Formats: sequence, C-alpha cells, structure tokens
Amino acid sequence: LRGMMMGTPLLVTSVLRHAALYHADTEIVSRTTEGPIHRHSYADAWARAQRLANALAALGLQPGDRVGTLAWNGYRHLECYYAIGGSGMVCHTINPRLFPEQIAYIVNHAEDRVLFADLTFIPLLEGIADHLKGVKAIVVMTDAANMPASSLPNLLCYEDLLAEQPDRFDWPELDENTACGMCYTSGTTGNPKGVLYSHRSALLHAMAACLPDVFDLSASDVVLPVVPMFHVNAWGIPYAAPMVGAKLVFPGPKLDGASLHELFEAERVTNTAGVPTVWLALLNWLHANGKTLGTLRRVAIGGSACPPMMIQRFRELGVEVLHAWGMTETSPLGLANMPKGKHAGMDADSSLALASKQGRPICGIELRVVDAAGVDVPRDGTSFGRLLVRGAWVCGGYFGVEASPAHETMPGWFETGDVVTMDADGYVQIVDRTKDVIKSGGEWISSIDLENIAVGHPAVAEAAAIAIPDEKWGERPLLVVVVKEGASLTKEDLLAVFEGKVAKWCIPDDVRFVETLPHTATGKLLKSKIRELAGA
Ligand code: ADP
Repeated sequence: LRGMMMGTPLLVTSVLRHAALYHADTEIVSRTTEGPIHRHSYADAWARAQRLANALAALGLQPGDRVGTLAWNGYRHLECYYAIGGSGMVCHTINPRLFPEQIAYIVNHAEDRVLFADLTFIPLLEGIADHLKGVKAIVVMTDAANMPASSLPNLLCYEDLLAEQPDRFDWPELDENTACGMCYTSGTTGNPKGVLYSHRSALLHAMAACLPDVFDLSASDVVLPVVPMFHVNAWGIPYAAPMVGAKLVFPGPKLDGASLHELFEAERVTNTAGVPTVWLALLNWLHANGKTLGTLRRVAIGGSACPPMMIQRFRELGVEVLHAWGMTETSPLGLANMPKGKHAGMDADSSLALASKQGRPICGIELRVVDAAGVDVPRDGTSFGRLLVRGAWVCGGYFGVEASPAHETMPGWFETGDVVTMDADGYVQIVDRTKDVIKSGGEWISSIDLENIAVGHPAVAEAAAIAIPDEKWGERPLLVVVVKEGASLTKEDLLAVFEGKVAKWCIPDDVRFVETLPHTATGKLLKSKIRELAGA
C-alpha cells in the first residue's frame, strides 16, 4: 500500500525561496575579494539568483550542463549554487588550491561549459586557458568597475549579466534525483573523481546538518563557514543556513586569525566550521594578542583529526567543539560527536577523550566496521576494522567512471578507506587511513594518535607520523616535526611526552625536524610526499 502524501520533490530552490519568504531581511554578510564588506539579505539573494538563472539561459546553457566555479565563500558564490542547481544544471565547485594541471583535468573531465571565477583566480585561468577547449565563457564575479585587464577570451562581468535580466525566473520542475552540484575528490592517489550530488541528497544532508547534535543551527544563529564552498559545499552550510533562516557570514579570501576574529566579533557569530589547520592559526593569534571569542558557541572541526589539545583550548574560551567526520563522497557529514545525557557530569579527562573521537553516525547514515574477511568486528572501542557506509547522501558512483565505488564483496556499501574502532555507544574513532596506518610486528600503530600527542608539546607547530621500512618489525614509526617559531626542541624532549601515553613499542624510534610539511589542497598532511621526502 502506497502512502498518500504529496510527492513534492526535494529541491534546493525550495530552501532559498523559503528563506526569502520568511527570513527576508536576515542578512548575508560577505568579505569580498575586492576588499569591502558587502551586506544583503535572503530576499536580495533570491531575486539575484533569479536574475542569474535568466542570465544562464541567455548564455545558451541547458539543463544538465556543468558550470564550474573558482571562488571563495561569498554572496555571489551562494547565488551561483542556487541559480545553477535550480536551473537543472550542475554547480561544479573547483578547489583552486589544486595544481593548475589538475584543475585543467577536472574542468575538462566535467566538461564545464562556463566558469564563474573570483578576481583572485583570473591569473590561474590565464595560465591554463589553452587547455580549456570546452569552456565558452568565463564570468568574473565582480562589477564593471573592477573588471580586470586580461588575455582571456570571452570574459564576462557578473554584475553586468545580472543587470540585464529580470528578477523573476520560471524555475523548472525537476525530479529530485537531478544533479545539482559536483565536487571532485582531492586525488592524492590517481586522478580526482567527480561526486555528483542530487537535489534530494543536498536537502536531506542539510536537514541533518541543522540537528542539535550536528551544527545546531536555528534562526537565532549567525553562522560563518570557514570551510570553503569548494570543499564539499562548505559541509552543506550554504543549504543548511537558509533552511533555518540563520544569518550567514562569508569570510572571502581572508582566513587568517586577525581577519576571522574581526568578523566573529563584529557580526556576533555563534557557529562556525573548518579544518584543524585554520583553528590552530586562530587559537595562536588569540593567544598572542590576548583576545577571546565573545559570541561563538560551537565550532565544528573535521577533515582531519582534531587534536585533544585543540578541543581543550576552545573549551577554555567557552566554545564547544563538535568533532565530525566525513568525505567528499558522504556530502560530507557522516559522524558527529556530541555527548549523550548519560555523559553529564563526566570528569574532564574522560570528557576530552570522548570528544576527541570522530562521533556517532548521524541518522540517515548506516555504517559497518569489518575485518579483512568482511566480518563485523566487536563494538568494544578497541577492535580495528574497515569503515563501510551507506545512505541517502553517500556517493553511489563517480561521474564518467565505469567502476562502482562500492565494496568489492559487499555491494551497496561504500568503502571509506578508513580504519576505525566503534564502541558500544556508537562512537567511532578514526585510527588511520588504511594506507597511512603503521604496521609494526603484526600490530597496527595509529599515526593520528602519535601526531595528536606530538602536537600536545608546546614547542611543536605541526607533526606527521609515517611508517619507515624496518627489517625486524616490517615498519616502524618516524615523526617528522615542524618546531614553533622561536622555540627549540630536542628529539629526547619530544619523545619523553609519549611515555605513559602509548605502549612502549608504539613510541617513534626517531624524529626528523623540518621547516615545513606538505599539505593537500584541502589542508591535510600529504603523507605520500612526506614518506617520499623522508626516503621511506
Ligand atoms: P575532503 O575533500 O573533505 O578532504 P576527502 O574525501 O578528501 O574529504 O577525505 C576524507 C577523509 O578525510 C576521510 O576518509 C578521513 O580519512 C579524513 N577525515 C575526515 N574527517 C576526519 C576526522 N575528523 N578525523 C580524522 N580523519 C578525518
């Protein structure tokens, strides 16, 4: 027997329409690439998204076409999300931190027909223009006064395009499974692969993102996504904030401690989200300048492991940390860490240990933790296994790739490539990427554990633990460390902090001091390169 409810499709257009109708004057504040702070409202964004949708049609773009963006977090980028997706086209957000040849590969693979670019990225596009044969126009996300002199052919001005169009658009009635967005994985192994989000997946994921034990968003909140809109759709915030009518604050290109602090305070930001690297910079800036955070109440941290030291420092500032886990392939939210009722009154050390895990599955995401034979491992918080996931916002295939991303013997389950433990309460801890775990004498050592302990030393700015081949043990851990400016540190001093924190055989044999460590385009340690540099 079928349910008898309306089959109203879940479309992203409905989110911005809702915000424009019922949160019309709620602000969207953006630090622009041009410099000044820009303010408009959900009503303005809705009208301008319709102008843009008319402009896309006038450019001859068709439903299903891919439209690329190379842009910071800002109001024009938000308008692109809705105008492109709402028109039945695919908003393909491109990570400008990738190597230029990877960007050219991605644009060509996705067959982007038009690119929208912030002023910052015009030189980058000039460098690869010869390789972008399928791109028929580049829209510079600025006004006429700021249009750059450029050798690029077919350069258009965003504000001029909008000015020529009416602010009413006849949105197509789409099937909710139509693609609305696209993001390529960072491709640390092999070529990047395109994940195609649907209207349905984006909407369901955004609803989950608003939940109290996830980002906890409401119409009283002010949310500033530090995580870029080219990094898995800023973790869904561009859809989640208008859904609940939260004020949005976009930081543009300036992600340093001083600039973020200024926006947090001036705009009275309550919720934010980003990767550990940006928070480390902000915390250090706050400490050096004797500043605090007046209104911020929750910071979501993910993308790589959040060290306990970072959770502790935010707690001292009165800010609650939500540690979360996800992937480009999971939209990205999969696990989120908030305590349960029974954890009330827990002592500080246990509470920090719990908060350092990556969290519990969000309803909508199912998961399994299996051993090499595909058998579920016990939920005891210590047994390791491979993490498999499935759900309405998990990738079921890659754009233009024949092979399925599903597990080879368990169809329907996505193999995350992470090794984890799960406890009886459902809290999952990421032990490592499968390829980064250190296998010593038949036992596994978590590189994340070693890195978390190393960065707990006050003289350490950043640390990577990698496996080096060893005749007797197979592999042994090596620490590669960047010392904080002005600090000094010996190998013995550093290794002393591991005593009592991990089993003796897990303590790294050696430490190598370096000036900097290489990172991926999403700010993670680039382990393959570190292994190569260390001769491992
Ligand atoms: P993104 O594009 O967000 O960087 P990727 O798909 O490239 O995502 O990487 C996802 C991987 O990042 C996960 O499989 C996991 O290894 C790692 N990761 C994400 N969040 C965390 C976290 N909180 N702790 C540890 N590792 C994490």
